[in-house]
Amino acid sequence: MSKSSEIVDLYKSSVAPTYSPSIVLQSGKGVTVRDADGRAMYDFTSGIGVQNVGYGRTKVIEAIQAQAAKMTHCSNLFINEPATRLAAKLVELSGLGGKVFFANSGAEANEAAIKLARKWGAESGRYEIVTMRQSFHGRTLATVTATGQAWCQEGYDPLPVGFKYADFNNLESVKAAITDKTVAIMLEPVQGEGGITPATEEFMKGVRSLCDEKNLLMICDEVQSGMGRTGTWFAWQGYGVKPDMFTLAKALGGGIPMSALVMNEKTANVFSAGSHASTFGGNPVAAAAALAVIEIIEDEKLLDKATEIGTLLKEALQGFVDQYDKLLEVRGKGMMLGLVVDGEAKDVVEALAAQGLLALTAGKNVVRFLPPLSLKEEDLEEAIDMISDALDCQFGE
Ligand SMILES: *Cc1c(COP(=O)(O)O)cnc(C)c1O
Repeated sequence: MSKSSEIVDLYKSSVAPTYSPSIVLQSGKGVTVRDADGRAMYDFTSGIGVQNVGYGRTKVIEAIQAQAAKMTHCSNLFINEPATRLAAKLVELSGLGGKVFFANSGAEANEAAIKLARKWGAESGRYEIVTMRQSFHGRTLATVTATGQAWCQEGYDPLPVGFKYADFNNLESVKAAITDKTVAIMLEPVQGEGGITPATEEFMKGVRSLCDEKNLLMICDEVQSGMGRTGTWFAWQGYGVKPDMFTLAKALGGGIPMSALVMNEKTANVFSAGSHASTFGGNPVAAAAALAVIEIIEDEKLLDKATEIGTLLKEALQGFVDQYDKLLEVRGKGMMLGLVVDGEAKDVVEALAAQGLLALTAGKNVVRFLPPLSLKEEDLEEAIDMISDALDCQFGE
């Protein structure tokens, strides 16, 4: 019995069946991960948008080690330096002139955004939030309700009240969902789980104008699209609009759980002392890791790299679309790309894994690629060969 199969058996008998994985990963370096039997694979999922700077970065590891040796936890009754510096850095990168609340997961940061919007609207009796169909905002009760996809909500009734859905990239649909109880519009600038669909510039600008006109808060969920993934620090920066608040998680802590709600001047002081909290939010080890991640992105100019290498990957994928009738479209921004398939995306993901390249699905018919922003050109070439072989197995004559 291989080491992997032993661990897979133990997993199946002991871990809740919310996921159905079959590969055991034990280590990672750059874009490469290794399974329990030593087999190397290219991780073009970056651990689902987490390892934007690649696995095993010395700077991140050293930051974690140094902070862990000093103090692994500091309660929020006290101030810790790494989280404080990180907050200041995120305010600077956002240019929104506000403040930051830290939590531990994407859902939790979105939950904070939802609570803040309700608190802000309470005086005027407004609480409804308009979210988009095909969105994804997390798995807590409020965020799964914000998520405009029925399959995530099945079996969890009664869901919290106060959410209305509109069609993404359809301003008329958003207008129609607004009532006198509406307090905010929440959206992903590039929808991730729902199918790698970027907002149009017209839509983002339209939502901003609508929010200004009707005195609503614009909330961007940057949990997947943030931290350089689309070629700017935050995807909304690529649209020439500013949200009233946005959330970050996946890539923020370089693999250590951490999330943030970044607010502008208008929303920065809506939460008051005691009105919201998280025991682990702003954990100093996670914050030290996040500061190291930001330094790497700056030092290695990974925002530009995400655009450059992302364009090369997009061109290669477009070539496959031109070649195979079963491939319909490539879409996305920077290093957040989706290949639309006429058929089941999971079959393509399996064919890619067989070649040694890990990718994801996004919805039923989109193959999702989220490679590290630090991907080297030679690794990209190797990966394109693997994709070519997998597609040939899948769709070739
Ligand atoms: C992953 C994701 C979430 C949920 O994050 P968790 O850390 O799993 O709670 C929320 N929004 C978006 C856009 C995501 O991609």
